[in-house]
Amino acid sequence: MKKTKDFIEREDRYGAHNYHPLDVVIERAEGVWVYDVEGKKYLDCLAAYSAVNQGHCHPRILGVLREQAARVTLTSRAFRNDQLGLLYKDLVEMTGMEKVLPMNSGAEAVETAIKAARKWGYTVKGIPEGKAEIVVCENNFHGRTTTIVGFSSEEQYKKGFGPFTPGFTMIPYGDAKALRRAITPNTCAFLVEPIQGEAGIIIPPDGYLKEAAAICRDEKALLILDEIQSGLGRTGKLFAYEWEGIRPDGVIVGKALSGGFYPVSAFLSSREVMDVFHPGDHGSTFGGNPLACAVAREALAVLREERLVENAAALGPYFIDKLRSIRSDRLKEVRGRGLWIGVELDRPARPDCEALKEKGMLCKETHAHTIRIAPPLVIKKEEVDWAFEQVRSVLEAPALARA
Ligand SMILES: *Cc1c(COP(=O)(O)O)cnc(C)c1O
Repeated sequence: MKKTKDFIEREDRYGAHNYHPLDVVIERAEGVWVYDVEGKKYLDCLAAYSAVNQGHCHPRILGVLREQAARVTLTSRAFRNDQLGLLYKDLVEMTGMEKVLPMNSGAEAVETAIKAARKWGYTVKGIPEGKAEIVVCENNFHGRTTTIVGFSSEEQYKKGFGPFTPGFTMIPYGDAKALRRAITPNTCAFLVEPIQGEAGIIIPPDGYLKEAAAICRDEKALLILDEIQSGLGRTGKLFAYEWEGIRPDGVIVGKALSGGFYPVSAFLSSREVMDVFHPGDHGSTFGGNPLACAVAREALAVLREERLVENAAALGPYFIDKLRSIRSDRLKEVRGRGLWIGVELDRPARPDCEALKEKGMLCKETHAHTIRIAPPLVIKKEEVDWAFEQVRSVLEAPALARA
C-alpha cells in the first residue's frame, strides 16, 4: 500500500520548501476529480489556479498532445513550424486582438507585456529613454520574476529578493481617480487584473475598467489586462473584460490556454504595439513550439465546443446563491463571478480547507482568510450541489481550534 506520508517525507527532504501544500498526494485525475496515492477521490475546486478549466486530462487535448509529440515537439524559433500560425489565427479570431507573441509561463508573458509597453512608450509615444513608467495596483499578482515581485505590495513576495526594477507606480485597486492622478506624460501603460485572483477574488466597482480604458485613451497610455487567471471562461465570459464591453490594448493569457497539459502563455495586442519588436529583441527557446501550439489550439476548441464559458455563466451564480444561504458564525462574505468564488471568513481559512479535504473536496485558502472555489468549468450541476453540501457542513460546524 502506497503511503501518503512517504511521498510527503521524500518531497520535503529533497525539495525547496517554497509551497505549503495540503497533505494530499495526487496520482491520477479525470475531469473534475483527482485521486490520491491511497485511492481516495476528491473534487478539485482549485483547478490548478484555473489552468485546468477544461477538466483534468481532457481526452481530446490528450489525443492531440500524443499525436503532435510523436511528430515534432520543438524547432525553436530559428525555424518555422506548421502549428504556430494556426494558433495565432485562432487567438486573434477569438479575441479581436491583432497580433500574438507566444511564451511559456504566465510570468514570462507578463514580462513580455512590460517590454512591449516600454518600447512602445519610447518609440511611439516619445517618452525620454529610461523614463517609462507603468502603473500597477496594490495587491496585484502578476508572477514571480524579480521584476514582477518588485512591484508587488506583498511583503513576503519581495523580502530578501531586491534590488528591484524601477519604473512602476502603485495605486489602490478599483479606484479610477487614483489612476488619473498617477498617470504622467511618461506613463506607457496601466497593467491590471480585471478581477484580482490571488488577492482573494476581488471584484472592482462596476464601470472601473470602462473608466480605466477611457483614462488610458485620453492620456495615451496602454491598458494591459492580465487575464492569465480571469480569462478563458472562468468568469462566465471568455475574458473578464467583456463584462464591461471594453477593448484593451493588450491582453495576457496563460494557464488554461493549454488546458493544464503544458505551460503555454501569450501576450496579445494591436499591430501598433507588437510591431515594436524586431528580430533579436526578445525570445524564448520553447515559446511557440509546435507541441504547445497544437495543445493550445485544442484547449481553445474544447472551451468553445463544449460551451464551457456558458457553463460557468450558468453554474457560477447558482453556486454563489447557494453559498450565500450558509449560516455560519465565521462566514463574512461570498463573492464571485462565474465559477470563480471567494468565501471570506473572519479568521484563517486553512482549518476549513483541511476539513473540506477530509470530506473529499480540495480548496486552497488565498490571502489567509478566503477559501477560493474555482473548479474545472466542466463541472456539472449535481457536482456543484455536492460541493455546496460539503462547504455548508464544514462552515456550519463549530470552528476547529487549529489555526
Ligand atoms: C498565475 C498568474 C500569473 C503567473 O503565471 P505563472 O504561469 O505562474 O508564471 C500571472 N498573473 C496572474 C493573474 C496569475 O493568476
